[in-house]
Amino acid sequence: MNVQNKERAGMIRSTMQRVPLSVNHLLERAGRLYPQSEIVSRLPDKSLVRHRFTDFHRRSRQLGSALLDAGLKKGDRVATLCWNHHAHLECYFGIPAAGGVMHTLNLRLAPEEIAWIANHARDRFLIVDDILLPLYERFRAEAPFERVIVFPFSRAAVPAGFTDYESFLAGAPEAFEFAPHDEDDAIAMCYTSGTTGRPKGVVYSHRSTVIHTLMANQPDNWGLAAGDSVMPVTPMFHANCWGVPYGCVMVGAKIIFPGPHLHPEDLLALMNAERPRFVLGVPTIWMAMLQLLESQPERYRLPPGMRMLVGGAPVPEAMIRAYARLGTEIRHGWGMTEMSPVGTISYLKPELQGASDDERLKRYAMAGVPVPIMDLRIVGEDGTELPWDGKHVGEVQVRGPFIAGSYHEVPQDPEKFTADGWLRTGDVASLDTHGYLKITDRVKDLVKSGGEWISSVDMENLLMAHAAVQEAAVIAIPDPKWGERPLPCVVLKPGKTATADELRAHLSGIFAKWQLPGRFEFLDAIPRTSTGKFWKVRLRERFVK
Ligand code: ADP
Repeated sequence: MNVQNKERAGMIRSTMQRVPLSVNHLLERAGRLYPQSEIVSRLPDKSLVRHRFTDFHRRSRQLGSALLDAGLKKGDRVATLCWNHHAHLECYFGIPAAGGVMHTLNLRLAPEEIAWIANHARDRFLIVDDILLPLYERFRAEAPFERVIVFPFSRAAVPAGFTDYESFLAGAPEAFEFAPHDEDDAIAMCYTSGTTGRPKGVVYSHRSTVIHTLMANQPDNWGLAAGDSVMPVTPMFHANCWGVPYGCVMVGAKIIFPGPHLHPEDLLALMNAERPRFVLGVPTIWMAMLQLLESQPERYRLPPGMRMLVGGAPVPEAMIRAYARLGTEIRHGWGMTEMSPVGTISYLKPELQGASDDERLKRYAMAGVPVPIMDLRIVGEDGTELPWDGKHVGEVQVRGPFIAGSYHEVPQDPEKFTADGWLRTGDVASLDTHGYLKITDRVKDLVKSGGEWISSVDMENLLMAHAAVQEAAVIAIPDPKWGERPLPCVVLKPGKTATADELRAHLSGIFAKWQLPGRFEFLDAIPRTSTGKFWKVRLRERFVK
């Protein structure tokens, strides 16, 4: 319909400006409005360095200028191989400021995997911590980088043959023009772990990032505010640290970066010194910390009034309850790299405010309520949408402006995206009448026994509520009679004992007789993926013969 016809038909055009969404705006705002907000980074020798947002603003722009001087062209990939610290935050903003795309490499992957990913992304530059140079040397021969810039994280002199990050910045003018851009232009990329097949690249835009940040900073989600202080334990290479750095910069919250020291003892010391009001990380970190807190309460304590965002893997209910006893509220989140990454966050909806403490904690153990600006549905095996009744279980599918619609240079795969444009998450869940999502499994981790599904997540949760159990991961093993049976792989707490019969009895109140495992494996540790999740593939390789 042309304009005249539209007017005749009574249609009206919006009178609002069309200004592209941009993370550069967040950077400029932070420099102008929150120059005094603090950024604390823990160095390899465990000492702390402090910067202000005014330094971050200046240095991010200098990084942008220096990259342009070094020949960065619009859309060029600049990889980072770094721990969580202030310079990594400068990369989050300085690289897009110059029109580049920050590509966070996962330092826990095998060197050959990092090389494969860097080549697939066609990374042109690398910014690497000096303490990670030994890792870089292990894939240097296969690496695609034209120039390697070394951040002197340990404050030692940068070895010859590399560009020193500090000199790179020092020589660059602060005043520079942001590269012209559209809101759909790429600013960052992240590869999924590729537990099945090769890792796949997700490329975020200015638009997806700004919308995700606005959404996630809402009170019912992270609820970050100007007076907050935040300690991201989640690595900055894991789905952009769940987007939290953008959120802190948007509101001017203090950021406390733990650097390479992620041992619970180190984290507790840093928390007690800097008093974050909000911390985030995968359950593994907090489970290990809980053990210290419970075994030596006279020695270790949590700072008061702290909230925790825990996600990236199932969060055991027993852990949520244990932290509640210590006065710390856990917010449980579910999401994935493809979702920028937040999809649901747990909180108590108004109609549930009268719930007892017990009911409240049960709710927090669910993955939470779908976040705004995104659609979420559960779909049965026949492709039909399932009701929100807490009973029907199906695959979770999502759609929205911060959800990936394809992967970087991978042909569109109907296994990952539906014909009507939804992302298939590969997670299996139910939604109850209040809209709370309960993840029961990943599609590839399902246990189908005697024609019925058994939730490995439910079984793990109950096992981890047993007083002697430190950790439990349940996998499916083939069974001639039942098709599959659940096999719990259990790690006991130091000094505690429990037999298979005792654990079976513990499960029997909740699980039906036919669901109870015949066999248990007792392990010293459960293998972890590069982002700290239970690595069930490794368990299957070991126990499924
Ligand atoms: P990957 O682990 O594949 O590298 P992600 O870090 O993006 O990549 O992980 C996303 C997956 O992690 C989800 O699809 C889901 O299976 C799992 N996950 C994330 N949060 C939760 C949660 N709260 N409960 C259960 N599973 C979760």
